[in-house]
Amino acid sequence: MNLEGRTAVITGASSGIGEAIARDLREAGAKLVVTARRADRLEALANELGDTVPVAADITIPETPQRLIDTAVERFGACDIVVNNAGIMDAGTVDDLDVERVALMVRVNVEAAFRLIYTALKHWKACGDGGQLVNVSSILGTKVRPTTGPYAATKHAIEALSEALRMELAGSGIRVMCVEPGLVMTGLHDHWETHPKDGLGITPLSPGDIARCVRFALEQPDEMLVARILAMPSDHSL
Ligand code: NDP
Repeated sequence: MNLEGRTAVITGASSGIGEAIARDLREAGAKLVVTARRADRLEALANELGDTVPVAADITIPETPQRLIDTAVERFGACDIVVNNAGIMDAGTVDDLDVERVALMVRVNVEAAFRLIYTALKHWKACGDGGQLVNVSSILGTKVRPTTGPYAATKHAIEALSEALRMELAGSGIRVMCVEPGLVMTGLHDHWETHPKDGLGITPLSPGDIARCVRFALEQPDEMLVARILAMPSDHSL
């Protein structure tokens, strides 16, 4: 599918994978609504890319998803693509992790993602023109390691919802895809004492590697669904 002139909403676009997806989709000719909390970074990105509207917002506020879709429709006349990418990660043994941090992870990675999916589906069903949803899951959406239980649980939730949606929406013109990155060098682990690249002794991917996967999935013709892409460092034996 040609992305030229299509409109995409991208969450978590102020850094890392979301920012790289924004750059790639703009290069492909898509118009963008980018969102995250850091307004300064979003504004700089929007100014640099052009045809990009920044919406500084907390994705856990229940009104944010509708605001994003409305902005895309008001500014560009449509919302064809939603990239559900915002996320946070804390690690530790289950009894060691601060339960409030776990609750926040559930709010951002699961509740906010589900609300955006729900809002996008309502919009696409009302319009009847199809739509493309990309959920940025994780290698930990299908696997688990000790100390990653709560985060893996949030990503397993996204995988389960995506799988059910894929079945429910078959033939509807609405396509649902999961991209499952392994370790990527971003700000996600900035607050960790030891970066997982050192803990695991592996070479992280770059955000651009994942953006390439997302663009590949989105550019396929209507009759083809790239339901899942697992993209991981080649030296990781997980
Ligand atoms: P970053 O920390 O670089 O990006 C996370 C993005 O999410 C930021 O733009 C941040 O923006 C946004 N975000 C976080 N909390 C909120 C919130 N409450 N409201 C709005 N936006 C929020 O990490 P990544 O790029 O790595 O993460 C992107 C996705 O990729 C996540 O879903 C992550 O789980 C997934 N992933 C990452 C992997 C990795 O190794 N890096 C591996 C597998 C999956 P701001 O702070 O400005 O609000």
